[in-house]
Amino acid sequence: MEAKEQQEIVTLRERLTKWSKEYYELDRPTVEDHVYDQAYRRLVELEAKYPESITADSPTRRVGGQVANGFEKVTHSIPMLSLGDVFSKAELAEFVKKLTESIGETVAFDCELKIDGLAISLVYEKGVLVKGSTRGNGLIGEDITANLKTIKAIPQRLSEPIDVEVRGECYMPKKAFVNLNQSREAEGRSVFANPRNAAAGSLRQLDTAETKKRQLSVFMYYLMEPEKFGITTQSQALAQLKTWGFPVNEEAKVTADLTEIERYLDEYQAKRADLPYEIDGIVLKADPFSVQAELGNTVKVPRWAIAYKFPPDEQETIVRQIEWTV
Ligand code: NAD
Repeated sequence: MEAKEQQEIVTLRERLTKWSKEYYELDRPTVEDHVYDQAYRRLVELEAKYPESITADSPTRRVGGQVANGFEKVTHSIPMLSLGDVFSKAELAEFVKKLTESIGETVAFDCELKIDGLAISLVYEKGVLVKGSTRGNGLIGEDITANLKTIKAIPQRLSEPIDVEVRGECYMPKKAFVNLNQSREAEGRSVFANPRNAAAGSLRQLDTAETKKRQLSVFMYYLMEPEKFGITTQSQALAQLKTWGFPVNEEAKVTADLTEIERYLDEYQAKRADLPYEIDGIVLKADPFSVQAELGNTVKVPRWAIAYKFPPDEQETIVRQIEWTV
């Protein structure tokens, strides 16, 4: 490896580690997501070229950030992973093609919106909410049960007395975000960069009363151990979650047709600004759980799902370019 590339790897890892800390642990990002994504991609490219340079603590091998002080720790029974991502239709088509080839037959995909919030886990015993946590570093999260109990959209009791873990996204609706920043500004306090960071900051408050004021909401999208309930596909799981009383995003769609998938992507990219919550892309998930089980996961992401990330706003890009050139 050339010394120049070795230095680039070191610099990229340092930058990504710093940005991750600001984003996940301090809820105060200093760069836009696409800047992070670009640097991350470059590191993936260099690590693919020089696999001997990969270390276990590389940002490409880690999920999320460190667990904040002040909260009890929760060990996730099944790791909470991230998602692989693509940034073009060509890459998305490639993902679908490779997955289909490795399964050897047409696979139906559940297309979902990628909600820009933070992942949470909810554990119910006999239908009663007993534990809620953040993703944390994927293996260990923060116990935020008391804070989650203040969110009206989260059922405290399900329609059936079951033992179940569900996962999903906690987010701040756009309107609540504008209101929060306006009142913070009026009080002379710092404002949040975006609804995602506002949601993360609000959920990891040590003062539960403060979380309650923040008007957070959730969409749940993962049912853990679905076989316990005889459920065999992601789309069935979403329907079941709804029946138990969870808020489930209504925009999901199942299709095996790439043109349909691309149409879904175009449709929501166009509707994005009009939705009452922030999305940063779409997620494709192989619908049958049998396919998910066959493909499994890497240390960081499932092999049966992918996120297509929308391009950044032009305005945002211009601002960033100016900042980078000064
Ligand atoms: P991610 O946000 O790219 O994707 C994974 C997450 O998507 C899941 O954990 C889940 O929380 C969420 N999600 C939303 N809707 C979903 C759905 N329908 N189904 C499944 N999951 C859904 O990955 P990440 O690991 O959380 O974060 C990495 C990203 O965060 C980066 O690509 C970057 O955009 C951003 N980031 C930004 C900075 C910064 O400084 N600006 C720093 C670190 C990370």
